[in-house]
Amino acid sequence: VKEYGKNHVKIYSQSMNEEAIRRQQLESELHKALKRDEFILHYQPQIDVQTDKIIGLEALVRWDHPFRGLMYPGDFITIAEETGLIVPIGKKVLEMACRQCKTWHDQGFTNLRVAVNLSQIQLRQDDFVDTVDRILRAAGLPPTALELEITESIAMHNTEFVLKQLHNLVALGVQISIDDFGTGFSSLSYLSKFPIHRLKIDRSFITNIANRSESAIITSIVGLAHNLNLSVIVEGVETQLQREVLPKLGCTEMQGYLFSKPVPPEVCIPLLKKSTI
Ligand code: C2E
Ligand code: CA
Ligand code: CA
Ligand code: CA
Repeated sequence: VKEYGKNHVKIYSQSMNEEAIRRQQLESELHKALKRDEFILHYQPQIDVQTDKIIGLEALVRWDHPFRGLMYPGDFITIAEETGLIVPIGKKVLEMACRQCKTWHDQGFTNLRVAVNLSQIQLRQDDFVDTVDRILRAAGLPPTALELEITESIAMHNTEFVLKQLHNLVALGVQISIDDFGTGFSSLSYLSKFPIHRLKIDRSFITNIANRSESAIITSIVGLAHNLNLSVIVEGVETQLQREVLPKLGCTEMQGYLFSKPVPPEVCIPLLKKSTI
């Protein structure tokens, strides 16, 4: 048992070491990725199910890694946040998303909005509002076409400063949505304090949509949103059953694999044409 214990400790410390090396390597690769422009965006359509039209697209970052292949945010966002690299990466994401949305507007899809995910580290930067303003101007995109997705945890920390930043963003004309709504273990009081436009209902709430208590939760969130004058979009819609039940519970905007996976911008064009905005 003693011997096993020793080995166990050794294996553990060795794997800790490997983990530290892996992270260091990833960090230096992230630096290179920024210089070499290896970050790309895929876009997932958001659909108004009453009209079947695409009303917006969520930008989701990918890392087109030179030898590891296409990497997903789960593989690198945490390290990017811990090293602060999320700030320049997030700026790059905002620039690409705004430019792409402007291109779609110029191609005739003039009502489209683009949604961009924010890390709370970005929102904590003093110059963040200025950065967004400059990016919008450089792209020539109307601020109303940009939606910034924040999570409930952002709302819980640094409340005063975050509140000021959000108000200044909204003053630009930008829209704010709460991502993964209902999963953050936070009180609901921020909903009346923060300048928010939309709630994104997390997909964990719709996995058993035929279930009575689950549909009661959706109905309640929709009622809450309507009373607060907020829009609602449901994320992670995968099945025809969800597609049929959700409108009966008051949901009209949806996003999920049933409609489309996140796809490269050029693949969006046929989707946009089909949806004829
Ligand atoms: P999220 O914002 O909640 O994005 C939704 C995630 O669920 C995406 O994963 C998307 O591909 C996936 N998804 C969409 N529809 C479905 C569906 O019907 N079923 C299932 N099972 N999954 C679906 P992805 O692209 O891997 O992104 C993961 C997370 O990484 C995002 O979660 C977001 O929190 C973060 N992220 C993505 N892009 C950025 C970014 O540019 N900046 C920051 N800070 N975070 C980002
Ligand atoms: Ca999101
Ligand atoms: Ca989400
Ligand atoms: Ca999420």
